[in-house]
Parts: sequence; C-alpha cells; structure tokens
Amino acid sequence: MSTLISNIGLLVTNEPERLERQDAALVIENDLVAWVGDSSKAPATDSQIDAQGSCVIPGFVDSHSHLIFAGDRSDEFEARMIGQKYEAGGIRRTVRLTREASDEALRRNAERLIGEARAQGTTTIEIKSGYGLTVKDEARALKIAASLTPETTYLGAHVVPTEFADDPAGYVELVTGEMLEACAPHAKWIDVFCDRGAFDEDQARAILTAGKTRGLGARLHGAQLAPSGAVQLAVELGAASVDHCTFLTDADVDALANSNTVATLLPGVEFSTRQPYPDARRLIDAGATVALACDCNPGSSFTSSMPFCIAVAVRDMHFSPFEALWAATAGGARALQREDIGGLSVGQRADLVILNAPSYVHFAYRPGVSLVRQVISA
Ligand SMILES: [Zn+2]
Repeated sequence: MSTLISNIGLLVTNEPERLERQDAALVIENDLVAWVGDSSKAPATDSQIDAQGSCVIPGFVDSHSHLIFAGDRSDEFEARMIGQKYEAGGIRRTVRLTREASDEALRRNAERLIGEARAQGTTTIEIKSGYGLTVKDEARALKIAASLTPETTYLGAHVVPTEFADDPAGYVELVTGEMLEACAPHAKWIDVFCDRGAFDEDQARAILTAGKTRGLGARLHGAQLAPSGAVQLAVELGAASVDHCTFLTDADVDALANSNTVATLLPGVEFSTRQPYPDARRLIDAGATVALACDCNPGSSFTSSMPFCIAVAVRDMHFSPFEALWAATAGGARALQREDIGGLSVGQRADLVILNAPSYVHFAYRPGVSLVRQVISA
C-alpha cells in the first residue's frame, strides 16, 4: 500500500542539505517516507492525498510531558497571575490527588491530553511518572504511560514526598533501590528534578547513575528556578537532554555547545509562571542543540500545544520561525535520541502534518489559530 501526498506548496524535511522544498510531493509506503521530490515527477501510487498547495511538516516531537496525574491547579495559576511566585511544592498537591485516583481515571486523563496534542500536530510524546512517589504508584504510572508511548521516563525524583520530609536521604535510597527495580521494566529514561526545593546535584548524580546502571538513559530537569551545577552534571553524565535551562552561566552554555546533550526549552512554563524566558539565542548562537517541548503538567505549564510553544519561542525568545519549527521536530527527536522521527527524509517514519496554511511561519504569525488540517502517523 503506497500513498502519494501531492501538490505540497512547501515541504519541510529537515534534511541537512535541503531543509525545505517548494512544489513537492512525498510517497508513504509501510508507514515510512519512500520518496520525496518535485510534484511533477511523483511516481504512481495506490492512493493520493491532495495537499492543495499547503505546507507539510514533520509531526511534532514533544520530548517532555507529565501526563499521568489527577486534579486541577487552576487556582494556583490564578494566584500567580495576581502576583504570587511559583515554588516546586505545588507538585505535592498533585501527588496526593494522583495517589487517590483509579488507574482508569489516570489513563483517561492521559488519553484526553494525548488526543489534544495530536489534534495540534504532535505525533510523538514523552511521558514521565513523578506524581506517585511510592513504589506502587510510580510503577503504575509508568505502566499506564508505557501503554501510550514508547518514550517513558521514570521521575521518582520529582520532589521528596511529604512522608520523607525528615529523611530525604532515605527517599533517595528508595528511588535508587526498590522503586527503580519496580519502574525500570516500564521506562526508557530516568529523570531528576535538580533544583531549589527538589534534589541537589549530589542526589541527582546518585539517582541518574543508578538508573544508567539499570539500563535507563539519563535526562534532567535543571536550572529552572536558579543557576546550579545541573546543566554541567547532565553533560558530564552524557544525558540526552537537560530541560528548562532558564538560568544559565557561560560555562553551562559552553558545556552544552560542546556536547550531544540537548537543551530543551519549555516556554509554556515561563508563560504560565511569569519567570523570565531562557536565553535561547545565546544557546543557538553558541551551537548548542535546542529542542522545544510543552512540559504539559497541571502546575507550571498546562498546555499540550506545540504550535503555542512555537509562537512564544518566535515572539518572545527570538527564535526564527524555522529554528522554532526545527526545535519542535528534529530537536525533540534528538532529545529522545531518535533518528526515525523529527524529519521527512526517505526512510524516516511518515509522521507528518498537513497544515491549513502555506507556511510554518503561520504558527507564530497566526497565534492561537488551529492550522492543522490532517495528521498522519504510523
Ligand atoms: Zn517537567
């Protein structure tokens, strides 16, 4: 079974030598891109989709989300909007509600959010645990996540739960011991929230090292609330990505630029907390690989919309429209160490979005407008 998408006004492939093509066509065979070229030279296929001159892009790769949770925290958002500051403690409220929720309720909520994301062009999404914080609740979050995506992340080290408030070392021991054993079979990655009010660098190093020993890839929440050694720790441990990067030193930027660790920026967080945006230009201009992701979670960034993140990245963080699109597709794929997604070269997965627009520039030019005509993914 082969399908031709013809009459593509602008096709973004993210191929290094030729990032985009005009008047293009693309053939899908067995869920893979089988051919890319000029519309006039397209081969015969079993079926056809007419893109009607619009833009076609790779599906978005959202490499950072927290979709396994229960409850609503719009009251905290409202309080922040009238002048209060975000602190990491709000996570404990979601932990309480998540522990009380049934498996079915957690799954339904995650499916609803994945549906929202897909309707806006997301074809791959990473999902973290981190609102259970007991052996049983972390393992169940990851089992649910693993039934929804291959990109699952064990985040037992999200915050120290209330019952370990007087014994954080005991909690780290649990996270690196019994909880890791229960969660590792359902996870590809391990992550730590390494910041003020969460885990320090020594704890993060111990947790990520234990996860790597158990076969998990490392990633890190770092430098969201204050400058720290988290970014350089991520680089030192060969983490796939360090996420947030809101407060960076020159040494952090240097370390990222000279490593394979991706800097994943999460503009929905700064939008929703009124923190300053990370200095994306400094990272991009230094040569660091930058990804954009939603960080969809009920506290600090309750958006599932990659187009929204792109609009903010262009308008307020000074990405060019193409840089933002690249970061939301190829950048996300690098942050998940995936070569089969994030672009539309021959051999990559045919995960793509046909837009109701002549160009991806419209994501920022027409903010808040649904520009997705059709999402195709395996
Ligand atoms: Zn996060």
